[in-house]
Amino acid sequence: MHTADRVFGGRNAKRMAAMRHHVSIAPRPLYLMFLTHLSCTSCGLHHDWAKLQNLCTACRKPLFAVYDLEQAGRALKRDALLTRAEKSLWRYRELLPVPIETSPVSLSEGGTPLLRAGRFGASLQMQNLWIKDESQNPTQSFKARGMSVAVSMAKHLGASKLVAPSAGNAGGALAAYAARAGVEAHVFMPRDTPRANIIECRELGACVTLIDGLITDCAAEIGRRKENWFDVSTLKEPYRIEGKKTLGYELAEQLNWELPDVIIYPTGGGTGLIGMWKAFDEMEKLGWIGKKRPRMFSVQAEGCAPIVRAFEAGENSAAEFPDARTLAAGLRVPKAIGDFLILNILRQSNGGAIAVNDEEMIRVAAEVASSEGLFVAPEGAACFAALRSLLSSGKISPNESVVIFNTGSGIKYLDCYDS
Ligand SMILES: *Cc1c(COP(=O)(O)O)cnc(C)c1O
Repeated sequence: MHTADRVFGGRNAKRMAAMRHHVSIAPRPLYLMFLTHLSCTSCGLHHDWAKLQNLCTACRKPLFAVYDLEQAGRALKRDALLTRAEKSLWRYRELLPVPIETSPVSLSEGGTPLLRAGRFGASLQMQNLWIKDESQNPTQSFKARGMSVAVSMAKHLGASKLVAPSAGNAGGALAAYAARAGVEAHVFMPRDTPRANIIECRELGACVTLIDGLITDCAAEIGRRKENWFDVSTLKEPYRIEGKKTLGYELAEQLNWELPDVIIYPTGGGTGLIGMWKAFDEMEKLGWIGKKRPRMFSVQAEGCAPIVRAFEAGENSAAEFPDARTLAAGLRVPKAIGDFLILNILRQSNGGAIAVNDEEMIRVAAEVASSEGLFVAPEGAACFAALRSLLSSGKISPNESVVIFNTGSGIKYLDCYDS
C-alpha cells in the first residue's frame, strides 16, 4: 500500500457520511500527484501533461515530465521507503506520473537485484563490481519499466491503439502491457529481429509488421501510415523515460544513497542513461543524494556506434550511422532522437563512449555466465567487454565502484549464441 492510498483510502465513504450529516468538507482534489507539466528538453517550452502528445510542438525535441519536488519530498521522505512494501518501480509513486486514484498497468516491473560480480570482478582485481540485473523484469528486459509507465499514462489519457517501432525487446514489452491494459498494440520490427521477440509479440496479441530495414525504417513506416494510433516510441513519448529513470532511484536506494564511481550502460536510444541522469537530478533536489555523480560510459557495437563517433569527434549531436549492423538488437539504433542529451551527460559526467565488436560480446557473455550464473543479453555482455578496455586504458581504476547494467536476458538471443 502506498502512503497516499492509506491517507486517502475510504475517502468516498467519509464523503458520503459527511454529506448525510451536512458537514462541509474540503473539495476533492482532481489529481493527487506531483507532476505539474511537461517541458521541452531543448527550448524549454511548457506543455500540458494531461494530453496525449509526442514531441515539442515548437522544436520537435523530446519532452520531460516536471514535478513539484518540494511537495513530493514532503509527501515521501527517503527513509519512509524502508517501510514501504511495494517492490515494483511504483514504489516511487510520488515521483511518477499517473494520478494516485488510477491503478497503473503493472506486471511488477522493477525492483531488480543489484548483484555483486565477485568472480568476474576478481579476475580483473576489482572488489566493487556490481550488476544491476534487468533480465529479471517482466518480458525479460528493462523495456518493461518504460512501457509500464507509458501504457499506464496512454490508457489514462484515453488512447486505445498504441504503436511502436522496435529492434527487439521494446515490442515484447509494449505487447505485454497493452494486453494487460486491454488496448491494441501495433509493433513494427526489422525482419531480422531475433525470432523470440517476434514470436513473443504475436503471442501477446500484438499486430506485428516486419520491415526490410532498421528500426529507423520502421519508425518512418509508422509515420507514413495515417492511423489514429498513439506512438509510444522512446523519447517521442514523454513517459517511457519516467519508467526508466527508476533505474537511478533503485540504484541509489540499493547503494544506501551513495552513487557508484562509474556506470557502464549499453546505449541504443539512450533512454536508460538519460532517465538515470534525470533521476539523479531529482534526487539531489529532494535532498536524497549529494552532488556526486557517477562517470557515465555508453557502450555501443562497432557495427553501430553513432554516439561513440560523435563523442570522439566532439560533436553535440550524432549523425546517422550508415549500414548499421550488430547482433545486439537493442544497440542497433543508427540515429537516436535523444543524441544531444546522451552526449551532454557523457561529457558532463566526465565519462565516455566505447564500441565493442560482436565476437567479443559473445565471448564475454560466456565468461559472465560461467563466472556469475547470469545468462546475459549481448548488450549486457558488451558492457563487461567495455569494462576490460576501460581498465586497460586507465579510464577506470580497479579500486573504483562500478555498476554494469545487464539490460536483458540471453534467452531471447538463442540464434546469436547458437554457433
Ligand atoms: C533497448 C535495449 C537497449 C538500449 O536501451 P536504451 O535505453 O534505449 O539505450 C539495451 N539493451 C537491451 C537488451 C535493450 O532491449
